[in-house]
Amino acid sequence: DGITVGELAEKIGQTPANVIKVLFMLGTMVTINSSLDDEQVELICLEYGYESKKKVVVSEINFEEIEIVDDEADLVSRPPVVTIMGHVDHGKTTLLDSIRKSKVVDGEFGGITQHIGAYQVEVNGKKVTFLDTPGHEAFTAMRARGAQVTDIVIIVVAADDGVMPQTKEAVDHALAAGVPIVVAVNKIDKEGADPERIKGEMSELGLMPEEWGGDTVYCNISAKKGIGISELLETLTVVAELADLKANPKRYAYGSVVEGRLDKGRGPVATLLVQNGTLRSGDPIVVGTAFGRVRQMLDDSGRDLKEAGPSTPVEITGLNEVPVAGDKFMAFETEKTARHVGEERQKAKQELDRGVSSAMSLDDLFNQIKDGEVADLNIIVKADVNGTAEAVKGSLEKIDIDGARVHVIRSTVGAISESDVLLASASKAIIYGFNVRPDANVRRKAEEEGVEIRLHNIIYKMVEEIEAAMKGMLAPEM
Ligand code: GDP
Repeated sequence: DGITVGELAEKIGQTPANVIKVLFMLGTMVTINSSLDDEQVELICLEYGYESKKKVVVSEINFEEIEIVDDEADLVSRPPVVTIMGHVDHGKTTLLDSIRKSKVVDGEFGGITQHIGAYQVEVNGKKVTFLDTPGHEAFTAMRARGAQVTDIVIIVVAADDGVMPQTKEAVDHALAAGVPIVVAVNKIDKEGADPERIKGEMSELGLMPEEWGGDTVYCNISAKKGIGISELLETLTVVAELADLKANPKRYAYGSVVEGRLDKGRGPVATLLVQNGTLRSGDPIVVGTAFGRVRQMLDDSGRDLKEAGPSTPVEITGLNEVPVAGDKFMAFETEKTARHVGEERQKAKQELDRGVSSAMSLDDLFNQIKDGEVADLNIIVKADVNGTAEAVKGSLEKIDIDGARVHVIRSTVGAISESDVLLASASKAIIYGFNVRPDANVRRKAEEEGVEIRLHNIIYKMVEEIEAAMKGMLAPEM
């Protein structure tokens, strides 16, 4: 008989709860005593960076042989993946175009650039990958689907306009994702541009410039005139170096979908970002719930590729359906496995569509604590007035219970919005409304995403509720 969930969890140093969660995401409900079949074991191992020695017939494997596949010796530096965010009209698109052009100016590849949703440029011999869809909606949607793709966020702020609502949102999202932020102060060519003022405003959001003793790098640029772009690119390579980004080109590829579409002539087309391993044309592959073989693989200049290593964006054909941005992909040794996994995931998706939620709730929190994990509770606070938002945040951050940490990832004034729900979903957060309510649309969205919204009007009651939840004494919701 196969190995059980509990046994496998122990072998790979994970809690059974985590293993159960991963399988649940793949559509299989198991308990700690369920025995697992070959592909399930394979997938769990892959998920946690272990590889069973034999690829397909997992039931024959001696599990003492499970080893970390990414052997130190196999790890090499990989390029950073960068997302550009900021307020509308502050110059995100112009900056992306300007960076892309800087590559063409180098004269490297004849200048025909494809828009495949991501592109790579070379800076002093080092590559940098950019996701081509600016803004935090795409970024958050991907995170909500479990794809952690971005290594560095550039926040663009127009020097003649300053910090605006979407600038703040972008900062929230980047901080919640825990990725390094570089601030690009744009439009410095304009009259009235005041980069120093921007530094002050951004510092209030927690992004203190290096020259003021903080650790955020600021670059003054004009995306339109091409001023400061090469300095910005160099900064990215420095930040990437500090982040010490590594991957193992020797393994089967996995990564995330950046874009998917149906092409009349070519069928389903997907832009994939290889996050680890090497993808080869001809590889059997599962992408979300789609599967197939990589038939044609193109880079961002439209050139045929045989192989794509870590952090490379590629456009592929050969899938049986169109995947969605944020879907994960994995390459396999045989088409049979790919097909099987694809079909399993298809079933899983149908189950999820029937309304099983995966977001965080106060009950989950207690279960985590019970399992002996340090439980992180992410909270979004929305309140009617500024003083209240601050007071609520302060009280929450003071909660001190063994085995649990509270993080307020956003605290603002105003009604509970869809953007709050998306952030909550991506960060597995709970939303607390203080004298504010969600409207029907937001409520529906929260239900879809499985996000818990709790409404209060007395601070100490809310604190009591969270403390109670952490101690496993949560009263049933009214
Ligand atoms: P996005 O909404 O953030 O993508 O902003 P866009 O890139 O579309 O830029 C909005 C407007 O600002 C456009 O008219 C751009 O030409 C202009 N713009 C962008 N960067 C600069 C800049 O560095 N200097 C000046 N003067 N205008 C800029």
